[in-house]
Amino acid sequence: MTDPSTSTSPAAVTTDVLVVGSGPAGASAVLFLATYGTSALLITKYGRLSDTPRAHITNQRTMETLRDMGLEDRLMSEATPWEYMGNTTFCTSLAGEELGRIPSWGTDTVRHADYELQSPTTMLDAPQTITEPLLVQAAQDRGARVRFDTEYLSHVQDDEGVTTTVRDRLSGAEYTIRSKYLIGADGAHSMVAADLDLPFEGPGPSPGR
Ligand SMILES: Cc1cc2nc3c(=O)[nH]c(=O)nc-3n(C[C@H](O)[C@H](O)[C@H](O)COP(=O)(O)OP(=O)(O)OC[C@H]3O[C@@H](n4cnc5c(N)ncnc54)[C@H](O)[C@@H]3O)c2cc1C
Repeated sequence: MTDPSTSTSPAAVTTDVLVVGSGPAGASAVLFLATYGTSALLITKYGRLSDTPRAHITNQRTMETLRDMGLEDRLMSEATPWEYMGNTTFCTSLAGEELGRIPSWGTDTVRHADYELQSPTTMLDAPQTITEPLLVQAAQDRGARVRFDTEYLSHVQDDEGVTTTVRDRLSGAEYTIRSKYLIGADGAHSMVAADLDLPFEGPGPSPGR
């Protein structure tokens, strides 16, 4: 592989902002960039968006940003609405004995008004399988480019921007992307963060996650 820091050949692809990862962080970043007219390219390692629900409680502040993006009604039509979010219940199994429950998410009568007074919108329950396609599709509609099966390998930063080396996982071919900025939204095991030696605090992701 050619070292991109010493290569004189121009990058195969250019963009103002390269976003690595199509989870909630990366999909949101590329959506905001595209909406505000910035050239952005999203790359993601796999040939699909999330196929598991994972992050799902979408709070009022997040809903306000999606309202700004014009996506509030669309997400509300696909997600479980606030009034159905109810309690957090502790059971011995999904169909087992109930040990106890906690009124959650402000849906109980004691807290309901507090939540309503806080915001023009409500929280809802939208798993990543719903949110990611919505965000990425809207970003594409607004001019962002998206490359699936494209894996971040490394990057080199200079005074003008960043040269990132990626691998096309279908062909195995490696190539470079030149950008003014690089956003590492590649999850809890972020290679971008590791390459920057960014410090992490706390226990980190649990085994198997
Ligand atoms: C099993 C499981 C259950 C969970 N349950 C919940 C839950 O119930 N509620 C909740 O709130 N949260 C839950 N989470 C946590 C939640 O999924 C994360 O907080 C959230 O996904 C983080 O979003 P993110 O965009 O930072 O990263 P991620 O969603 O992890 O997205 C990372 C993205 O980067 C891409 N990527 C990774 N490496 C590379 C690379 N080298 N090159 C290119 N792309 C790359 C991935 O393909 C992916 O698109 C769960 C997580 C797991 C694993």
